[in-house]
Amino acid sequence: SPLSTESKVLIVGAGTWGCSTALHLGRRGYKHVTVLDPYPVPSPISAGTDLNKILELGSFAGDDADERYVSNKLLEAATEGWRHDPVFKPHFHETGCILAATSEDARKHMNTRDGPSEAAGWIPLRTKEDFQATMPKGVLTGDFPGWQGWWMQKGAGWVHARKSMESAAREAIRLGVKFITGEQAGRVSSLIYGSSDIKGAITADGTHHYADRTILCAGASAAALFDMKDQLRPTAWTLAHIKMTPEEAKLYKDLPVLFNIERGFFMEPDEDNHELKMCDEHPGYCNWIPDTSAQDARQISSPFAKHQIPLESEARCREFLRETMPHLADRPFSFARICWCADTPNRAFLISKHPQYASLVLGVGGSGHGFCHIPAIGGFIADAMEDRLDDKLKQSFRWRPETAKGRDWKDLQGRFGPKGGNRVMDFQDIKQWTNIGEKQQQQN
Ligand code: FAD
Repeated sequence: SPLSTESKVLIVGAGTWGCSTALHLGRRGYKHVTVLDPYPVPSPISAGTDLNKILELGSFAGDDADERYVSNKLLEAATEGWRHDPVFKPHFHETGCILAATSEDARKHMNTRDGPSEAAGWIPLRTKEDFQATMPKGVLTGDFPGWQGWWMQKGAGWVHARKSMESAAREAIRLGVKFITGEQAGRVSSLIYGSSDIKGAITADGTHHYADRTILCAGASAAALFDMKDQLRPTAWTLAHIKMTPEEAKLYKDLPVLFNIERGFFMEPDEDNHELKMCDEHPGYCNWIPDTSAQDARQISSPFAKHQIPLESEARCREFLRETMPHLADRPFSFARICWCADTPNRAFLISKHPQYASLVLGVGGSGHGFCHIPAIGGFIADAMEDRLDDKLKQSFRWRPETAKGRDWKDLQGRFGPKGGNRVMDFQDIKQWTNIGEKQQQQN
C-alpha cells in the first residue's frame, strides 16, 4: 500500500537506531508507529546502554570520493543534532579528542590523507610530556611508551550514550510513538512472511503485529531474525569501569577523549556515579557456534549477554592504564560487560529497503561507529523507507550480499590491537572471566 502518515509502521528493536527512527517518524507526523523490544529503554543488551561514546567531528573515510561524501553527510547531520537539537544537545561534551598509535602500521593507518594534520587544526604529540600536558597535572602520570599522536582541542568529544537514547525515546513517546517491551510482549520471535512481502512481526507471546512497513533495527541480533546473507558479523567489544573518588572526579572533569587505536580509550568519569569507563582496543570477539538451522556445518557468531569480560581483556585494560595513568592501574573494576555491534564487510551502514520484500526496511550494520549518529540516523532510515535517499547515500547504504560472498570472517576490518592480540577472537576459546560482584555491578 502507498505510504502515508496513516500507515502502520513497526520498528523491531528499541536500541540506538530504533529510538532514533521512532523519534524521526514521530517528527514526520506518522501516527501509528510501534516499537518492539524485549527490554524497556535502555535495553541492557543495546550497544547504546553505556556511559559514553566518542564523537569525532571529522571525516575518517578513505580516499574514495563517494565514501567521503557519505561520511561527511552523516557527520554533518549528526553534528547539527548534537549542537542544536534540544533532545540531544545536553548530552554532548565538546571536550576535544586525542588520537594516538604505537606501532608503525597503526601510525600509518592513523595518518592517512584525511587523517589528523596540523593544517586541519590538530596539535602533534610526540613525547610523554606532550601527552601529559593535554590534561591537568596528576591525570596522565604514565610514560606513554612509543606513543605518537594528535590532539584536537575542539570539534570533537564524547556524548552520554544512555541519556541520549532515553531522551530520544521520551520525545518519541511524547509524539505518540508506542513502545511495547518485555520478554514476552516485546521480543520478536520472527517476521511475518506473506506471499511476496513482510507483513509485520510475531512476538514471544504469540501476538501478530501486522504493519504496512517493518523496520529492522535489532543491532547485533538482526541476523538472527532475518537472513542477512552474511552481510552482518555480530562482534563484541569489552568495557570496564573503575570508581573514582569525588576529588578525582573533579580533577578529571571536562577531559578530552584519549584514544590509542591499538591500546584502548577512556573518557572522563560520569557525573552521577564518578565511574571512569574504558575500553581495551582489539579487532573484536565473535562467538562461533554451529548454525542449527543450516544443512551444512556452517557456524554463526551468536550474541549473548554477559556482565563480565575475559581476564585477558582485563589485562589489556590494565596495561593501557599502566601506560597512561599507572596510579589507577590496580584499582578494582566496579562494572564490566561485553557489548555487541554488527560489522558489514566494509563497515558502511546498511540502510535500505529490501529488494525483494518491499515493505521491509533494514537499519543495521552500526559497524562500531553507529552511536554518535543517533541524532540523525533515524532520519536516514525514514528517508530509505520513503525512497528519498540521494543516489550516493543509496549506493553506499544498499543491500549488498555480493560484497559478503565467501566473506573472510577473520578480517580485521581496519582495526588494531596490542601485539599478539591483533586478531578477531572467539569467546568459545575464553576460559577465564572477571568475577565482579553483583553488588558492585551497578546500573550504568
Ligand atoms: P543496539 O543499540 O544494540 O540496539 C539493538 C536493540 O535490539 C536492543 O535494544 C535489543 O534489546 C533489541 N533486540 C534484540 N533482539 C530483539 C528481538 N528479538 N526483538 C526485538 N528487539 C530485539 N559508536 C560510536 O559512534 N562511538 C563510540 O565510541 C562507540 N563505542 C563503542 C564501544 C563498544 C564497546 C561497542 C560495542 C560499540 C561502540 N560503538 C560506538 C558502536 C555503537 O554503539 C553501535 O554502532 C550502535 O549503538 C548500534 O545501534 P543499533 O541500534 O544498531 O543496536
